[in-house]
Amino acid sequence: MTRLSIFRKLSFQYFALAISSIAVALIILGSIKSSAESNKDLQNLNSDIRWITVDESELNHIQNVSENTNSHFNLKIVEKRGGISVIEADEEQTLDLSRNMHEEFHKCAGFMAHGTLEAALHSIENSSLADSTQRIVEYTINNQVSVNPMIAETREANIRETITRLSTDFPTRRYNQPTGVDSANWIKNRWAALAAGRNDITVEFFNHTYSSLPAFSQPSVILTVRGTNFPDEVVVLGGHQDSINRVGGGQTGSAPGADDDASGIASLTETIRVMVAKNFRPQRTVKFMAYAAEEIGLVGSQAIAANFKSRGVNVIGVLQLDMTNYQSPGAIADIAITTDLTNAPQNAFLRNLIAFYQPTLVVADDTCGYGCSDHAAWHNEGFVASFPFEGINSNPTIHSPSDTLAQSNGNANHALKFTNIAVAYLGELAKGSSNITTAASVKLSGRVLEGRRGISRARVSLSDASGAIRTTLTNPSGYYQFTDVAVGEIYTLDAQSKRYKFTPQVVNVTEELIDLNFYLH
Ligand SMILES: [Zn+2]
Repeated sequence: MTRLSIFRKLSFQYFALAISSIAVALIILGSIKSSAESNKDLQNLNSDIRWITVDESELNHIQNVSENTNSHFNLKIVEKRGGISVIEADEEQTLDLSRNMHEEFHKCAGFMAHGTLEAALHSIENSSLADSTQRIVEYTINNQVSVNPMIAETREANIRETITRLSTDFPTRRYNQPTGVDSANWIKNRWAALAAGRNDITVEFFNHTYSSLPAFSQPSVILTVRGTNFPDEVVVLGGHQDSINRVGGGQTGSAPGADDDASGIASLTETIRVMVAKNFRPQRTVKFMAYAAEEIGLVGSQAIAANFKSRGVNVIGVLQLDMTNYQSPGAIADIAITTDLTNAPQNAFLRNLIAFYQPTLVVADDTCGYGCSDHAAWHNEGFVASFPFEGINSNPTIHSPSDTLAQSNGNANHALKFTNIAVAYLGELAKGSSNITTAASVKLSGRVLEGRRGISRARVSLSDASGAIRTTLTNPSGYYQFTDVAVGEIYTLDAQSKRYKFTPQVVNVTEELIDLNFYLH
């Protein structure tokens, strides 16, 4: 209490100081020539410059439109390569670009932002190498026994509830606003609560503070389900968590983003819920992702995709859900499969999945252009990605205070179709089963040591959560080993020699462990 009031007093003094400094600065500025040019320079100094990559012909179109409407939309093009332009822009110019992209092409993003010119050029080089036809797995549809019960469990009301929370509890989920961090925490907590009781699932933040892209406070959220048979093969299902107001509301302007993209996050959240409810254990590792900062140029997903590529993570497929809950009046198609900057074999698999599991849905093809959503970040890094979209005609209210659930008649019926696509993709690409009778097993081993010397014939015991105990004795060099230890369980290891009792170790077994040593200090 005391500390708080001192802190308040101090912050008030700093506040007063700051106000008077600003006043002095304004007076000085006012006395100097206050041309538009110098103001612009000031703005540039105060905002982080970023390098934007954008489709050259789309940029030309936007610049022509801007000239016609007499707006001041001057962008500094620093490089052109292979049909892509690199622009040096500050935050205001980036927003101008995104507003125009949205107005002219009805895109969610439509460009990619980079922290350095080098990164921007590297991105262009990557995109020229990306292969849209590579087939890295054999696609099969043979896991109905797992998928059908999960699809039977998906509920519109749950999706609606998540959309409602995300679009009404946070005035904006913008990447650089405190409420955009609050919403990231909400998603992480929600996913962790759904995964409670499953020790093969972890939920964590992916922070965006260190990469070559502009740093910001909103973290991405990643939920990982460890694969039972092929843990090194990774299936990704993602959507973006941030929202934005591009209709003059500024940084703090109302941005409910109910369709864009609370609907995608809600579709994924319901997928996680039914996966846990049906105790589905994927053979391949599955990662659900809520990307930060998509709206300012796919910044969150680019950082993650680049990180995964540099670590050599074997991602075998990516599904993007961005805008799943608006079906325009009179629309014939339920789902539009994005055919550009995606993978053709996986798109064909997606069409087959829809035909098999939701045969009444009408599927069409569409394109969405350069950098239109997070799938493009993965595609750019050479990964297999697909993007099923809410229709040929998208929601006209996105990026405004009107992007609310009311635009979808207050229900999540359309988004439910996308949850079922995600469930089918999960069950048929990651494979796996809801009836695990024998878990994968591994070896646990280590030494019992006094200093550097192994202790012979020490008794080591391994007990599981149910209290079942196995014991073994160390060999003359102090080594012990347990085979056939089921993964996904928590065990307590005890060691005792003739003379000493060692500190027990609690181990969450997810893989073979060879260094479970007991030391006598
Ligand atoms: Zn979006």
